[in-house]
Amino acid sequence: MSHTDVHAVAARLAAVRASVERSAVAAGRDPASVTLVAVSKTHPPEAIRAAWEAGQRDFGESYAQEFAAKRAALADLAGLRWHFIGALQSNKAKLVVPGTSLVHAVDRASVVEALGRRAREAGVVQDVLVEVNVGAESTKAGLAPEALGAALEGFSRVEGIRLAGLMCIPPPAGDRDDRRAPFRRLRELREANVARHGSLRLLSMGMSDDYADAIAEGATHVRVGTAIFGERPRKPAAE
Ligand SMILES: *Cc1c(COP(=O)(O)O)cnc(C)c1O
Repeated sequence: MSHTDVHAVAARLAAVRASVERSAVAAGRDPASVTLVAVSKTHPPEAIRAAWEAGQRDFGESYAQEFAAKRAALADLAGLRWHFIGALQSNKAKLVVPGTSLVHAVDRASVVEALGRRAREAGVVQDVLVEVNVGAESTKAGLAPEALGAALEGFSRVEGIRLAGLMCIPPPAGDRDDRRAPFRRLRELREANVARHGSLRLLSMGMSDDYADAIAEGATHVRVGTAIFGERPRKPAAE
């Protein structure tokens, strides 16, 4: 049973969209330079359909099996772009490639190689973002900032993928003095590595509670779930 209020989606989406635009303008940025990814994980396909009817095109999913099922159920929605934003296991790369415009959270050679293999088989080039653990939390996925340079070097040798940018999930802001610090860190890491890896263009950072801060630091993709779809039903049992 899902409790997602599908009828509320269009209005919430409009509010988030307006707020994303305001944040971009306040930062002196072109609103078109920020892509709003509507994070629909654990919400039913009807919620995605409602957002699509309201003009939303970019959607983020986190669980490979759930993603594959929804993608099949929504194959009729023209122009929809899927983003895979979750932790991916190598053996599930085939559920994600081809058909995903951006894979947001890779941090391991085994996964990059699996994605590359799958992309070559399908005759596509898969854009990926490398996840950085900007808060250096022991429980979080992502590469330590110090390890990023060497990892990019290794990943860049894998054919079939393009290193399109960086992604982070910072610790909750709480009462941290500088809410923007982790986002600034990711921006600086991109700037430090783009000379060597010219395709490193994108910054996926910011969620429902902190996307304004992320946009102020240059986010090109914000991943917003709760503010659009409401509280999440539980993670699907099959994953
Ligand atoms: C679930 C999720 C989001 C969305 O989080 P909200 O707080 O609901 O906006 C964003 N990014 C990632 C990686 C997620 O897993």
